[in-house]
Amino acid sequence: MKSWWLRRSVRLRLALWYAAATALVLIAFAWFVYEVIEHRLAAEVDRQLRIDFDLVEAQLSVDTQGRMQWNVRGSHGDEGFARMSAWFEVWSENKELLLRHWPVPEANSKDALPPPQTSTLRFATIELERGLFLRVMERPGRVLGRSVIIRVFRDETEMRRTLREIIEVSLLGFPLAGALAAIGGYVVATRSLAPLDAMAQQARRITSESLSKRLPNLNPNDELGRLATVFNETLTRLEGSFAELQRFTADASHELRSPLTALRAVGEVALRDGNDPAMLRETIASMLEEAERLTDLVDALLTLARMDATKADTTREHVNIAALLEEIRDQFEVLAAEKGQTLAVTSDHNIAVQTDRTLLRLALVNLVHNAIQHSPSNSKISLAALRRASGVDISVSDSGHGIAPEYHEKIFEPFFRVDKARSRSGGGGVGLGLAIAKRAVERNGGQIIVDSDSNRGSVFRIELPWSSDLAGSRATT
Ligand code: ADP
Repeated sequence: MKSWWLRRSVRLRLALWYAAATALVLIAFAWFVYEVIEHRLAAEVDRQLRIDFDLVEAQLSVDTQGRMQWNVRGSHGDEGFARMSAWFEVWSENKELLLRHWPVPEANSKDALPPPQTSTLRFATIELERGLFLRVMERPGRVLGRSVIIRVFRDETEMRRTLREIIEVSLLGFPLAGALAAIGGYVVATRSLAPLDAMAQQARRITSESLSKRLPNLNPNDELGRLATVFNETLTRLEGSFAELQRFTADASHELRSPLTALRAVGEVALRDGNDPAMLRETIASMLEEAERLTDLVDALLTLARMDATKADTTREHVNIAALLEEIRDQFEVLAAEKGQTLAVTSDHNIAVQTDRTLLRLALVNLVHNAIQHSPSNSKISLAALRRASGVDISVSDSGHGIAPEYHEKIFEPFFRVDKARSRSGGGGVGLGLAIAKRAVERNGGQIIVDSDSNRGSVFRIELPWSSDLAGSRATT
């Protein structure tokens, strides 16, 4: 049943729900109406019985032989009608029938009723014959000082017919109303869901080649419109990611091709006129240099790819920031000294965070490497750690040529270099260092902020939380 239900279209299911709900409401309403009417009619019969009782009691007398007599008077002097319709019995206190007046033949039903049982007021419903229901009221009365029990009757047939008609009309009406509700529901659902069909058709047409297409959105304020908006936003993000991926692939191929072309050119020249051993040695050295660039590039690409592929895989440990900064200073001291630069570390010794040490080290290595590359000789590069309420700030500051504000975001994109010529000649990389650093920091739940301007030096600040529980959750691309 469940799978049958799930295989139906939404519009059919909505229509059936609609019909079922309407039928339920109707049944509840009809039941309520039935109850109210039945209660009113029954109360009316009982009220009539009380009137009958008073009338009959007033019209009874005893003749000279002590027999009970009914001095009939219609309520409007219409004796004939009263004779026809009055229906009562008078019993003595010791359960002896004193007088009976029934407007139906008594033959079959004479002994249908037992003598009265109580001497208090009592109402009851009995079926005298098949289909003939009577409402009975029995109550003690007095006739000329004599105590009797008077029973008055009223025919309930009319009332029962009215109630039966209500049931019949309801039974006829329910299927009709249910069917109408189902048809109405189906039409409404079809109309409401039509935009969904249009969206599905359009979505089917969207491929990686046509990511710029968007879903139709007739009314952005309703639920379907909001769905289309969210879907279109997703498409926009997807299109952006796709374009970025294509750009990345093109850039990566280009960067890979340059050293390979250089390798081939140098090799071909050496092969053609390479008789001089000194010249050959020089060629091999230059080829090795290009090969090294290629290795660096491939390593960096692999690092990036690995970071994207294993998003949730970070190992957190207790990292002493001062110790880490000193370790990095020791690593770069020789490189800095070659340019006459000094590396200074300032940090509170007790700063420690829960984070992935390898990733944090990777980010810092790239920042310090850049600072050395982009700073003049004999300048100072500072590594500092500062305690904040929510974590730690680690900054790498240099007094190099700086970065104009319009490049502050772009420098974190893969392969972006502000000045390609200077980067290469200055021994810079291919533009992956900051992209790697940004991803590494974001994987640790932190962020990198750059504060710099042309010819003013640069400060790269890593803001890390005390614990990188959120690692990976803030990572973007
Ligand atoms: P690269 O491999 O070229 O160093 P990065 O991604 O590390 O690539 O840096 C991107 C670009 O940002 C660099 O080419 C350079 O133009 C600029 N840049 C990075 N760090 C600094 C810095 N400390 N001072 C000035 N410019 C910088």
